[in-house]
Amino acid sequence: MFPPNLVQAAGFHYRTVLITPTAEQEEAYRQKIGNDSAKIPVHMFEISGQYKENSNITGLVVFSIVFGIVIGMMKDQGKILLQFFTAMSEAVMHLTRIVIWLSPVGVCFLIAAKILELKSFSVLLGQLGMYFVTVMLGIMLHGFVVLVLIYMVIVRELPFRYIANISQPLATAFGTSSSSAALPLTIAALEEKNGVDPRVARFVLPIGATINMDGTALYEAVAAIFIAQVRGVSLGIGSIIAISITATAASIGAAGIPQAGLVTMVMVLDTVGLPAEDVSLIIAIDWLLDRFRTTINVLGDSLGAGIVNHLSKHELAKIPPATDMMPAKADMGENGIEATAM
Ligand code: ASP
Repeated sequence: MFPPNLVQAAGFHYRTVLITPTAEQEEAYRQKIGNDSAKIPVHMFEISGQYKENSNITGLVVFSIVFGIVIGMMKDQGKILLQFFTAMSEAVMHLTRIVIWLSPVGVCFLIAAKILELKSFSVLLGQLGMYFVTVMLGIMLHGFVVLVLIYMVIVRELPFRYIANISQPLATAFGTSSSSAALPLTIAALEEKNGVDPRVARFVLPIGATINMDGTALYEAVAAIFIAQVRGVSLGIGSIIAISITATAASIGAAGIPQAGLVTMVMVLDTVGLPAEDVSLIIAIDWLLDRFRTTINVLGDSLGAGIVNHLSKHELAKIPPATDMMPAKADMGENGIEATAM
């Protein structure tokens, strides 16, 4: 949340790493406890840190919030910065609109390339069929029943038009397997087609794309249970609850990039004492499941933003009008830029 270097945060994020003990350390440990086959338990591994490629979105969001508050406090003095960032944001939205037009072609080729890489799709489904079906059923149930019901109960509206309006970001999420790649399209669709206030969309969606991953959490739990069953590990109710909790935490830790969930699943496997290498059991089908879970992740973020928008309607109406803070469509018209030009 607090990046030491902002420029670095745009391209790298920090993560803790466990240092695997050397053979000598293992040997010393065995002698110490007097057991020839003992291994140093994971909780005794040393912990260190490492910077990995991929931006630190949470850090950037936290900085932006604080910076935004400070600019607001500066009143007239801060106006120039406000205008700069508003213009920058609009420029990116215009760029996004161009990409929106190209995305169906891009998505089509991305999927075609993946299918051509496969040797035999039916053999793959035969081996991992029930696992695939379970994850798919869970994802569909969550996306089209649970999320829809939550939206209906809180907003008191059917969400089908709302969902139809975000079909393009959903297709992009499916095509790219990345919530972050779909993010600009999600923001554009929510603001322009679903009328979500930019202050809500631009705050909720970047956070959602990074930490709210319903599809990933669901898949990680199913995958860990599947692997445990393949390995013959029996799971009691306690282990299943532990898996659910770690799967949720692991999904929060996963970045919005392709197959990030597969990496953080090591954490879930560890809770039930399974080795990290066991992810290889599900790796073959992961590229496909990743597309579905990413789509549900983006759907969850979008419906969440719609709910926040509904719940904050009155508060938003009281804060200075959006046009004062960020030129939405009305201002853009004045500047001669048509919001619907593309
Ligand atoms: N690809 C997913 C996303 O971007 C993350 C994952 O489950 O691997 O939302």
